[in-house]
Amino acid sequence: MVPNTISERLFHRAQAVIPGGVNSPVRSCRSVGTTPFFVKRALGCRLEDEDGRIYLDYVGSWGPLILGHAHPRVVEAVRFAATQGTSYGIPCRMEVELAEKVVSMVPSMEMVRMVNSGTEATMSAIRLARGYTGRPKVIKFDGCYHGHSDGLLVKGGSGLATLGIPGSPGVPPEVVAHTLSLPYNDLDAVETALKAYGETVACIIVEPVAGNMGTVIPKPEFLPGLRRLCDTYGSLLIFDEVITGFRLAPGGAQERFAVRPDLTCLGKIIGGGLPVGAYGGRRDIMEKVAPLGDVYQAGTLSGNPLAMAAGFAMLQELSEPGIYESLEKKGEALEAGLREAARLADVPLTINRIGSMGTAFFTDKEVSDFASALQANTAAYGVFYREMLARGVYLAPSQFESFFVSTAHDREDLDRTAQAALESLRVVKT
Ligand code: PLP
Repeated sequence: MVPNTISERLFHRAQAVIPGGVNSPVRSCRSVGTTPFFVKRALGCRLEDEDGRIYLDYVGSWGPLILGHAHPRVVEAVRFAATQGTSYGIPCRMEVELAEKVVSMVPSMEMVRMVNSGTEATMSAIRLARGYTGRPKVIKFDGCYHGHSDGLLVKGGSGLATLGIPGSPGVPPEVVAHTLSLPYNDLDAVETALKAYGETVACIIVEPVAGNMGTVIPKPEFLPGLRRLCDTYGSLLIFDEVITGFRLAPGGAQERFAVRPDLTCLGKIIGGGLPVGAYGGRRDIMEKVAPLGDVYQAGTLSGNPLAMAAGFAMLQELSEPGIYESLEKKGEALEAGLREAARLADVPLTINRIGSMGTAFFTDKEVSDFASALQANTAAYGVFYREMLARGVYLAPSQFESFFVSTAHDREDLDRTAQAALESLRVVKT
């Protein structure tokens, strides 16, 4: 194909020097049968591509941008921080301010360690759980993605599901031998596994609301049941709140569902759009982390002053009154618009939504785990994605991801999205 647009030309150049032309696989847009647009700039809930096309953005950089792009408070914090130096490698005030803020917002976190990504957060939390309990095994759930560290790349949802990759070459079987992956929302399966392996299970790691097989909401008994089973078998409960942290409530899913994990992993929103992750939890467990304890974990750029400043500004803004109520209303309005569009176009959709995140699955069946998510018609989703994009609405380029609404989306944006969805679904129907 001869490249026509600036995006196509950039993609052509990118493919020569970057694997697949992208720095993270789903961005290639392969599963929705197209190629990526290249972003020139972004403001509020809008992205502008290199060719000057404007899109309403429901990806929000895969979750971090809950305040929209280039929020003035975040931009100002980063701008000021940059004038003071971009990295010190020795403590700075902002690390303390952000840690105090996080601990004050997230119910179960008594101490927190900053890292540079969600992957680092989950990888480090698991090392800590193993170090603390002296046990090797980890239970995770099919379709939950916890980043790309070796031991967690088992039935990993997200890009793996999108591209149909079950695991990954380069991960030796011995490395995943201690990872058990069970169906989401299935407490019986967890109990059976714990009966068989209980003495050796260090932790259960779960997305308290799954976002990486598309949005899947926990059944009412699921999270409390995991808490109870962990207590019975002496395993730690880790909530991976890289998506849900600061999105579903100021204190994340653990606040919304009133279940207290032992450890929590954070990412995305905590960095205000800069590369940050964090893990933390019970003081007695966190005191096992070096230099207090013997579980080693470190990072040249951890606690980076720009990233800390961006995250702190973000969390301060999210602490203003009315933010989560407003996000809830916007989420509801988007869901209602999509439901009505599906009804009018006569296309069966199963919409899972909680707060400002959700997924419209192209199926008429309930989606409550990875197996049911995989029933969705990905070809229909691909058509829907391309039609929406043509109408200036950018959704995740995969059926197995979530949409995110930001504070920057207003009623008019949501109405326009519903209208675009109706037109797009009518094309899907043909
Ligand atoms: N955990 C969850 C729930 C995620 O959604 C992601 C990324 O999407 C990660 C961990 C990994 O985070 P990162 O991409 O910052 O490494």
